[in-house]
Amino acid sequence: MEKIIIFDTTLRDGEQAAGGSLNIPEKVEIARQLEKLGVDIIEAGFPVTSPGDFEAVRLIAEEVRTPVICVLTHANLEAVDQSWEAVKGATHPCIHIVLSSSDIHLFYQLRKSREEILEMSCNTVARAKKYCENVEFSAMDASRTDPAYIYQILEAVIDAGATTVNIPDTVGYAMPDEFGNLIDNVFKNVPNIDKAIVSVHCHNDLGLAVANSLEAIKRGARQVEGTINGIGERAGNASLEEIVMAIKTRQDFYDLYTDIDTTQIYKTSRLVSELTGTPVQPNKAIVGANAFRHSSGLHVDGVIKMRTTFEIMDPQSVGVPSSSLVLGKTSGRHAFREHLSELGYSLSEENFNRAFAAFKELADKKRNVTDKDIESIVAEEQRTVSEVYHLDRLQVTCGDRGIPTASVKLVAPDGEVRSDAAIGTGPVDAVCKAIDKIVAVPCTLTEFTVKSITEGIDAIGEVLIRVESEGITYTGRGADTDIIVASAKAYINALNRLLSDTNAAA
Ligand code: MN
Repeated sequence: MEKIIIFDTTLRDGEQAAGGSLNIPEKVEIARQLEKLGVDIIEAGFPVTSPGDFEAVRLIAEEVRTPVICVLTHANLEAVDQSWEAVKGATHPCIHIVLSSSDIHLFYQLRKSREEILEMSCNTVARAKKYCENVEFSAMDASRTDPAYIYQILEAVIDAGATTVNIPDTVGYAMPDEFGNLIDNVFKNVPNIDKAIVSVHCHNDLGLAVANSLEAIKRGARQVEGTINGIGERAGNASLEEIVMAIKTRQDFYDLYTDIDTTQIYKTSRLVSELTGTPVQPNKAIVGANAFRHSSGLHVDGVIKMRTTFEIMDPQSVGVPSSSLVLGKTSGRHAFREHLSELGYSLSEENFNRAFAAFKELADKKRNVTDKDIESIVAEEQRTVSEVYHLDRLQVTCGDRGIPTASVKLVAPDGEVRSDAAIGTGPVDAVCKAIDKIVAVPCTLTEFTVKSITEGIDAIGEVLIRVESEGITYTGRGADTDIIVASAKAYINALNRLLSDTNAAA
C-alpha cells in the first residue's frame, strides 16, 4: 500500500480566513496538536505578510520537531530569502512558492506574460533550493489554466529543483472527473513528473473540495492539502479529517493509507474551532455534534443490536468522547486526575487544582458530568492562566419590569479589587458596561454567540465574544452553567487579550 502525505494548512489558509484571530501562543498550541495528530507537513504561515506570522513560524519551526514545517511565499527573490529566515530553525524545513498560472490571473491581476511567469517560477525555485532540499511549487488557479501551459511550468520547476508540485483548484471550480483527468494528463504530459510528488489543494466553493481531492488521489496524486474542519478562504478548503477517514474507512476501495492517528481528530477539531472562534456545523461529517447521533427509531434499534447496522465508523476511532456519565459528585481528586490523563491532558499542579475546584462546583450544580463538560472546564481554566483582570464577583437583576442592572467586582493587575455597576438594555449589556467602567479600554463589541456544550437544561453554556479595537479583532471565550457569568468571563477574556497585545506592543 502507498502512503498519502497529509499537508495541513490550517495555520495558513485557515487562519487567513479566520481574520487573523489567532495569537502566537495559540498558533504554537495548534501546531503541537497537529504534530500529535500525525500530519506530515504543517504549513505554519505566510511570513512575508506580517511580523506576527514571521514570529509564529519561527517559534513553530523551533518547537515542533517531527513534521515538515513549511512556509508559503510569493514568487520573488527577496520574499524567498525572508521566508527562509523564518523557517530555517526547523528540523525539516520546506519553502512553498505560489504563483498564478491562469490567463485570467496573468492578464488582470499580475499583468505579466506567460514567459515572464515561467522565468519567475524557475528563478525563485532555484533560489529556495539553495536553502533547503524540500521545495514545493504551486501553480495557482491551475484548474482554470491552459493544460499545455501547466505541463510546461511543472516540467520547468521540477528541473529547477521543486520536489513537490501542487495543482490547486484555487477557486473551487473543478468537477471531480474533470479534475481527475487533469491529474492523469499531468502524469502523461510532464516528462520528469516521476522526480516530484504531485499534490492537490482544493477549495469548497461548490462543496466538492473533498470529492476532488479524493479523485486526484485515485489518479495518482500522493499529497493532499487541507485544513481541520475545512476552514479556509470563502467556503473553505478540503476537510482533512474527511479525507483521512475516507481513505481509512474505504481502504478496500483506495488501497492507500495515511500516518494520521485518527483518535486525535476530534480533539484537534475542537481546539481549532475554539481558538479560531469558528463553530463546526452540527451535521458536519466526522466531527459535527450529530455525526454519530442516530435519531430514527429504526436506526437506534439497529445500532443497539449491532453497531455496524447503521454506523460505518466507530466514534471512538476519531476520538469522540462519550457523552454518558463519567464522573459525579463523589469522584475524588485521584479519579479526576486519572480521567484527565485518559482524555490526554497533563496539567500543572496549580491548573489541576483550579480545574478540580471547578469540577466539584459543577458536580454540585449538575447531576451528570461528562467528558464534554470536563473538556470545557479545562479550556476555561487554561484561559485564566495569563489573565490581566480576573472576575471576582458578579450580580445581575433583570426581568420584563426591572431595569437590567449589573454590579461587578474585578481583581486588577496590581491585585487591587475594584467594583462598579451599570444599567443596560439587557443583562449582558449591563455586565459589559459595568466591566467597561473598570477596565476603561476603548473597543466595540462585534459578535456575541452562546451555545451549549452538552444536552439538557443544566448544560454548560459557552459564550464567544469578539471585540474590535483599532482595526484588530480579539476573540474571548467563557464557559459557565450561568450564561450571564459565561458572558462576563468571555468579555473579560477578550479585553485581557486586547490588553496583553497592547502591553506587548508598548
Ligand atoms: Mn487556498
